[in-house]
Amino acid sequence: MDTEAKLALVSDQMHLEPAEETGVTGRVVAPCGFAPDELRHVVESSAAGAALEAKKNSLGLYDAAMPNGKRLTMLKTLLTSACERDCYYCPFRAKRNYRRATFKPEEMAQAFHQMFDAGMAQGLFLSSGVAGGGVKTQDRLIATAEILRRKLNYTGYLHLKIMPGAEREQVFRAMQLADRISINLEAPNANRLTGLAPHKNFKEELLRPLQWAEEIRKSQPARLGWNGRWPSTVTQFVVGAVGENDVEILSTSAYLIQQLRLTRTYFSAFSPVPDTPLDNRAPENPWREHRLYQASFLLRDYDFEMEEMPFNRDGNLPLDVDPKMAWARVHLTEHPTEVNRAERNELLRIPGIGPKGADAILSARRRGHLRDWRDLEKLGIAATRAAPFVLLDGRRPPHQLSLWSA
Ligand code: SF4
Repeated sequence: MDTEAKLALVSDQMHLEPAEETGVTGRVVAPCGFAPDELRHVVESSAAGAALEAKKNSLGLYDAAMPNGKRLTMLKTLLTSACERDCYYCPFRAKRNYRRATFKPEEMAQAFHQMFDAGMAQGLFLSSGVAGGGVKTQDRLIATAEILRRKLNYTGYLHLKIMPGAEREQVFRAMQLADRISINLEAPNANRLTGLAPHKNFKEELLRPLQWAEEIRKSQPARLGWNGRWPSTVTQFVVGAVGENDVEILSTSAYLIQQLRLTRTYFSAFSPVPDTPLDNRAPENPWREHRLYQASFLLRDYDFEMEEMPFNRDGNLPLDVDPKMAWARVHLTEHPTEVNRAERNELLRIPGIGPKGADAILSARRRGHLRDWRDLEKLGIAATRAAPFVLLDGRRPPHQLSLWSA
């Protein structure tokens, strides 16, 4: 089988892995950062998007947004699509009748490097099915990264997957080669994982490597990391396959973000894959994925605590309103925030004001009072969104009730 055919085989289904901020791939997705109107557009135009991207995606090439805002074309692929594990949601599970392909480390490194040299790909996300155990599979991933970095002098973006069961030394080695590492928890706790992947050990195989990554960051100098810094760490949850609620998912997310300093937690609304034990389950509503992203950003960037999340009685976030707006309606409608006196963390709780907006307000206040909603607009604040919840010099700015609640 030639390299292109193999790449197409192993990369099939990689759109299910939201490891970077990739664009529309044919599935109805709600990646983080999409404003509600963009999400609607994605939902309505997913079929057209799939047709346009199909050819590129068949090789595993996706447009991705980097943390610094730059966009690049990323090859998202696997060393092998063969897997000895049997996770119930996964297209690569052992018992699925499916044509597999496998690359040797040298072959994969050379294949990607040729695409890189030809300008087809600027970054690599490399994962693998588990073949011969997690430790051996991790060795092959690390060997591929070493060939790229040491032999082919590749200095571009590299996201390396950590295999379930990998050892601490392997996590350390991966952190010396990659810009980002990840291991997918898939479920928020051991109990839920039994319904998704009964042969994986939540604590020892999945959570422990994330804890090691943070221990390494804390105990070893950053100069030992790739390019003199430690890679970011991320994980992913499958949402809506086994009855877990948002309290469970966000409690674990809060721990990962606040204690283990994960850059982000990804959420993947469950989408049934044919010929898997969960293939008769209904797909999850993509709005749930979107609300989870919004809530995780409140935990990460807006000083919100879990206790403040506006959960319904069933432990889920409301789907029809963004969690920050829901919080503000309860807490700020009767007691609006005076923009000229509020602390940064109080400003961050106002809908329409993000970290940049809060900093712009603090800076503008040093030059004088903010008296008019147009002053807020000039600072890049979504003033109509903020207006019902603020005072400017003791007065409520005029506002129309926004119909756009999402
Ligand atoms: S170990 Fe990974 S590739 Fe293998 S079945 Fe489970 S999720 Fe899929």
